[in-house]
Amino acid sequence: MAQAGAGKTEGKTATVQATGPFELPKLPYEENALEPHISARTMSFHYGKHHKGYVDKLNKSVEGKKFAEMKIEDVIVETGKDPAMASIFNSAAQAWNHAFYWKSMNPKGGGEPKGKLADRVKADFGGIDALKKKLAEAANGQFGSGWAWLVLEGDKLAVVKTSNAETPIAKGGRPLLVIDVWEHAYYLDYQNKRADYVTAVLDHLLDWEFAASNLA
Ligand code: MN
Repeated sequence: MAQAGAGKTEGKTATVQATGPFELPKLPYEENALEPHISARTMSFHYGKHHKGYVDKLNKSVEGKKFAEMKIEDVIVETGKDPAMASIFNSAAQAWNHAFYWKSMNPKGGGEPKGKLADRVKADFGGIDALKKKLAEAANGQFGSGWAWLVLEGDKLAVVKTSNAETPIAKGGRPLLVIDVWEHAYYLDYQNKRADYVTAVLDHLLDWEFAASNLA
């Protein structure tokens, strides 16, 4: 994020250092890039404190263990099967989910899917408006903390919600997009109005090209 002309957040994310085998990926855009829908203040806490915290905790919890040598996806699958590994699972899954969430949004997002993804959306939901309605229902209907996902199940698209750190990839699922509905994702900007945050993400931020890239 230290490119020339990066703006007022220049240098900020460059100070985030990995201290173990798992790295905090760089944000794909500046912290203020999703304004006015998601503020730089929210991004600063959500990425710089919450996401970084999950990666740091994961690195601490795998120290000296075989998981330190594994891909994060494999750590999630393996620890997801064993309730005694819940602490490592939660950190690994939250680290992965957040990296996927940043990529699910784009300052030039919103709009509609194109090409093959548009065809699938039409076939499996009837159209983009019906899909957005399903995503909104999942996001707003998730009780407490969690995530709303567009996933590929077999050869069909589906909308699912998960609680806390749960993630479709733990059971071999294929996510295309995700919306974070933990309160920390929206409380500074929207307070208790989760539905307003969800509408903003659906209408202005979702990156349908990223979703399409996950179909391939
Ligand atoms: Mn979050």
